[in-house]
Amino acid sequence: MIPQTHVPFLALHPGPDAEAIRAAIARVVESGWFILGPEVEAFEREFAAISQVPSAIGVGSGTDALALALKALGIGPGDEVITAGMSAAFSALAIVMTGASPVFADIDPERMTIAPGAIEAAIGPRTRAVMPVHLYGQAADMTAILTIARQHRLAVVEDCCQAHLATCDGQPVGTFGEAGAFSFYPTKNLGALGDGGAVVTADAALAERLRRLRNGGQAGRAVHVEAGVCSRLDELQAAVLRARLPYLRAWTRTRRDLAARYRRQLDGAAIDVPSERDAGHVYHLFPVRARDRESLRGALAASGIETLVHYPVALPAQPAFAAWKPAACPEAGRLARDVFSLPLYPGLSHASIDAVADAIRTHARP
Ligand SMILES: *Cc1c(COP(=O)(O)O)cnc(C)c1O
Repeated sequence: MIPQTHVPFLALHPGPDAEAIRAAIARVVESGWFILGPEVEAFEREFAAISQVPSAIGVGSGTDALALALKALGIGPGDEVITAGMSAAFSALAIVMTGASPVFADIDPERMTIAPGAIEAAIGPRTRAVMPVHLYGQAADMTAILTIARQHRLAVVEDCCQAHLATCDGQPVGTFGEAGAFSFYPTKNLGALGDGGAVVTADAALAERLRRLRNGGQAGRAVHVEAGVCSRLDELQAAVLRARLPYLRAWTRTRRDLAARYRRQLDGAAIDVPSERDAGHVYHLFPVRARDRESLRGALAASGIETLVHYPVALPAQPAFAAWKPAACPEAGRLARDVFSLPLYPGLSHASIDAVADAIRTHARP
């Protein structure tokens, strides 16, 4: 049987922003300037303004943004950084890139972000920093996390890669810790046409060090005062991001409206729709939980509805981190077994949301 509906998980083709993107690309081609020029400088100013932070530093990816933020804070070999047991593996890979060791703390099953109590339990003599992840677009419990970090003199680097414009109790993410890291990977709430990232910070000295580190550690021209890396946001991606930035607030409102519609349409359905803990949730993803996940996903696929699992393996169980002998995170493990994401992006129609909800209800009532 040919499915009646087709609801793709994502649609990455530019929509209302397509004209502005074409103009931005033409402008850069015309300029003949491709690395660290006026587009990057302008994007850094504009992204800092919309994120309500003093400085933004464009880098090559979200992973690099996290790793460089840690490096700029002096974190490296011999140090431990505590992060969430459930996230994209890139969060913890960024810690490994600095030479420090990742230590995983379990998540709060309601909020699905790092549990403050688990951070406290994971602190040891070598702990230097905490890296909370604002997963799925919802901020971690920053008030509790900052209290613990201050008590133990730990730096805080926020992984904001899924949380552009998100707030926690009204305060923008990326403004709680020493630094926040954003990704502009094409699927993110603000996506480039390739890789890109940014670090945000209120600390002027840290910002200056980050500008140096991303460009080989150069101060001025050809004098490398420290061993930096090569991780620069390029002019083309910066121009594309500038073209898209004016749409970000409206896209975020749409994401929130679509999430509210899912909640209404799925009310009473036989799946677990996590509740919203903070009105600053920006719904990078719409995760739901089901005991019979694979059979439900199969039924949805047969109805033409694409879903994905974010993430099927908790970080302590990833082979890449086995060398650090991570303690298990049981709540993250349970989430990895039963979570999956429904389609959610600004171009998704109400009719598609209703079709997804109907298909879920039909499957639950065989
Ligand atoms: C996407 C993502 C990253 C990595 O960003 P890249 O730009 O792909 O390097 C890190 N952490 C989280 C939570 C992410 O979603």
